[in-house]
Amino acid sequence: MTIPTEPIGSIPRPLELIDAVTALGNHADPRLDSLYEEAIRDTIERFEETGSPVITDGEQRKYHNFWTYCVHGLANTAPDGFTIPFAAGHTRRMPRLTAGPFRYKVYADRYLEVALRHARVPVKQAVISPSALSLMYPAEGIAGYPREEFIDDLLDEHETEVRRCLQKGAHAVQIDFTEGRLAIKLDPSGHLLNSFIDLNNLALSRFSAEERKRIGVHTCPGGDRDSTHSGDVDYAELLPSLLELQAGNFYIALAGELDRVRALKIIRRHMKPEQRIFVGVVAPIDPRIETPEEVRDRILEAAEYIPIEQLGTTDDCGFSPFSDDTSTSRHTAFEKVRARVLGTALAGKMIEGR
Ligand SMILES: [Zn+2]
Repeated sequence: MTIPTEPIGSIPRPLELIDAVTALGNHADPRLDSLYEEAIRDTIERFEETGSPVITDGEQRKYHNFWTYCVHGLANTAPDGFTIPFAAGHTRRMPRLTAGPFRYKVYADRYLEVALRHARVPVKQAVISPSALSLMYPAEGIAGYPREEFIDDLLDEHETEVRRCLQKGAHAVQIDFTEGRLAIKLDPSGHLLNSFIDLNNLALSRFSAEERKRIGVHTCPGGDRDSTHSGDVDYAELLPSLLELQAGNFYIALAGELDRVRALKIIRRHMKPEQRIFVGVVAPIDPRIETPEEVRDRILEAAEYIPIEQLGTTDDCGFSPFSDDTSTSRHTAFEKVRARVLGTALAGKMIEGR
């Protein structure tokens, strides 16, 4: 019995790379190319050593983060956009769109292409959700570029990015939707979350049922500097809406939840027959490395609520979604991945033997 297991995406960047980016003051300086190349090569090698059947490039080149990598450096933006507040007290800010038309500067298939040159096992690619990028459009509007036009452009760009990743052979494309849980915090009425779900479903509806089997959505309470932005939001407010998304796979942070069984019961009630649920079994923001046995037990617990043919495992989140986050070492990240892989195999054996 093989239970599918996949990472979320990011691995902490090598400290030499972070220091060099800081020293040069420009993440795109060509003098960094050899450091990036080495970071990607080393990440993929170490990822494969963990035994993870699916890997990523660790998002080594996603500067500055998983959220704005595709729009960073656009001329028609200003730095004073939407702010994400973290429980630890710090904030992260995204750019604000100042004029149309909205176009990506980078599509994530560029990273995938490089990773595929190095990798010997399947590679997945994470992309940012349309709903996250929709927060770039200012509340007061943009003269000559109405919101409806922006949304059309946004959906086109997102579709292009996902298609390029699928066509280049991504094992799966994962849409990062960390703002889903945050939406409940920002707007407890649920309107904002519903608008995010509707927008992302508009994007997903552009793909065939066959394509959607390779498309997934990741939800988490955020993870930056060992802190979250919406860990205090009740999953009961999010999961029923989340599972309305027309995606084939769901990557749901669970290891760091206080009441996993409660979340699993909600998932059982709302999941659809065509959906696979990858439950988080290791917690990147917890510095302690889980044991394979602990991971196994979490999976056996999940299997009581999710049919085994619809179950998979994952990490709760990326290990450093923001590229300058040094709160987790590369060593710890890979050891946690290893625990996920070993624990998932142990659980598969036990379930098989029943
Ligand atoms: Zn996450």
